[in-house]
Amino acid sequence: MKLNVITEPNPILHQVAKPVDFVKTDKSALKKLIHNMIETMYAHDGVGFAAPQAGVPLQLCVFAKNYSFDGQKELVLINPKWEKLSIAKNTDTEGCLSVPNMYGEVKRYKKIKVRAQDINGQPLEFYTDTFLARIVQHEIDHLNGVLFTEKAKNLKKITRA
Ligand code: ZN
Repeated sequence: MKLNVITEPNPILHQVAKPVDFVKTDKSALKKLIHNMIETMYAHDGVGFAAPQAGVPLQLCVFAKNYSFDGQKELVLINPKWEKLSIAKNTDTEGCLSVPNMYGEVKRYKKIKVRAQDINGQPLEFYTDTFLARIVQHEIDHLNGVLFTEKAKNLKKITRA
């Protein structure tokens, strides 16, 4: 089921999301939410999607399989944290399903290490220096109530002709 995407202005997009508690959380409801988030991401041509963008203030985000580390399967990160493994940053254009038609240039760390839990609550750790590094930083910003527009330079509104 496709979820409704929350767009600006909305206070949910500016809140810190709560950690997923695997003891208290209903596993099938969590799996259903993840499934729906993935469907919603693809329906809007997104490469990543965070639960607060569906109005669910949980530390959970998903990534399109083309950009995930094995390229085979969508990547799901629960309660994720990242740290930089390089001083180097690069700049690239970003957009966001929650800020429709806006694009801007954002500086992000090139190489990061990510620690999270998977869909079963098992620890997951990896590093990345591909485009995934950028998307992970963008989506984890969502979990901390930060939008790319707060970091972007040369923000432009591009409307459809
Ligand atoms: Zn976004």
